Amino acid sequence: MATAGKVIKCRAAVAWEPNAPLVIEEIEVGPPQEGEIRIKIVASSLCHTEIFHLFEGKDKRGFPTVLGHEGAGVVESVGPGVTDFKPGDKVIPVSVAQCGECRFCKSPKTNVCDRNWINYHVDLMSYPTTRFTCRGRPILQFTNTGTFSEYIVINRIYVVKIQDDAPLDRVCLLGCGISTGYGAAVNTAGVTPGSVCAVFGLGAVGLAAVMGCKNAGASRIFAVDINEQKFEKAKVFGATDFLNPKAYNKPISEVLAELTSGGVDFSLECVGNTEVSRAALESCIKGWGVSVLVGYTDVDFSARPIQLISGKTWKGTLLGGFKIKDSLPKLVNDYMTGKIMLDEFITHKMDLEQINDAINLMKTGQCIRCILNISK
Ligand code: NAD
Ligand code: ZN
Ligand code: ZN
Repeated sequence: MATAGKVIKCRAAVAWEPNAPLVIEEIEVGPPQEGEIRIKIVASSLCHTEIFHLFEGKDKRGFPTVLGHEGAGVVESVGPGVTDFKPGDKVIPVSVAQCGECRFCKSPKTNVCDRNWINYHVDLMSYPTTRFTCRGRPILQFTNTGTFSEYIVINRIYVVKIQDDAPLDRVCLLGCGISTGYGAAVNTAGVTPGSVCAVFGLGAVGLAAVMGCKNAGASRIFAVDINEQKFEKAKVFGATDFLNPKAYNKPISEVLAELTSGGVDFSLECVGNTEVSRAALESCIKGWGVSVLVGYTDVDFSARPIQLISGKTWKGTLLGGFKIKDSLPKLVNDYMTGKIMLDEFITHKMDLEQINDAINLMKTGQCIRCILNISK
């Protein structure tokens, strides 16, 4: 590769500051160092976590940054010590690590690797070291990825090699939202056959949770959203009942309790709103109900102790509990063999230059997932 070992100049969408449009810039991407891989990003989608960082988060230190963490691409070059990847490999870079060596990676109980940046820098929403510079300034890689750039550099513990025939403009979705929602249902909640489920929030994460509930054999799946336009899609993924909390003059947990004789077996919060988290917990049946927090926010939440004392379980999930290297290649194969859907999440396709339009569509609830062509 003619570019190996050299600085690459390429296009990226830079978020110089919060609450402002992204700017397409020429950036420099340094060569990969020990254990790192440089990837040419082919496609990337947009997840609500970008919207959170740009507009909603309290901590404003994580700027300037290149957003994007649902990407897929091809290895351009590898740094010293990298033997398990080679130029030309198709890969998905993920914001979640699997080092394979720490006690968390060695335990089947969790996918929370001890080396993950999230353990130490969650308020910055990135690892402080970056290989990106622009106009003489270091630019952060959002959630350690930064896939709204034609090239990124990332440690091999965050990279998954996938099969050669996988379409990168679809499987990029497995880098975050779809794996998260799907795994939240099948892994974290452990949805059982015949159970009754409720999914709050019908973005890609929530719709993937609906798909997980369906594939796990749930008999009834309530799809809950304040935007009723999302209900039609939820039906495609297997939802059986549709509720808009704003259409009732009592709490949605009471509505669900009446419809299910006491509450649902499993509820999944896929919004990132602490009021909704509480409602999801309160919607579970006492004795055995399990509620999973999937949506991300940085404010405290509360609930009455009796909710848990009465036998409910409240859990959270990171990337649906999937250990990336063990599970993402299987999910890619599940897509290729028709076991899980991906195409149905895609409502828009755009070029990187249209990134601000894509952001607006997501902010205003008009899009499920927009796939951006990153490299021409
Ligand atoms: P999205 O914006 O596409 O979807 C959110 C949905 O919630 C929308 O349909 C919206 O109408 C609905 N909603 C808003 N307020 C509501 C309310 N009060 N009651 C019911 N529904 C409401 O977002 P997304 O990309 O699907 O992401 C969802 C959440 O998951 C975000 O908080 C994101 O940060 C988080 N997330 C977490 C992880 C993880 O590993 N835990 C990974 C990816 C995303
Ligand atoms: Zn580890
Ligand atoms: Zn995400």
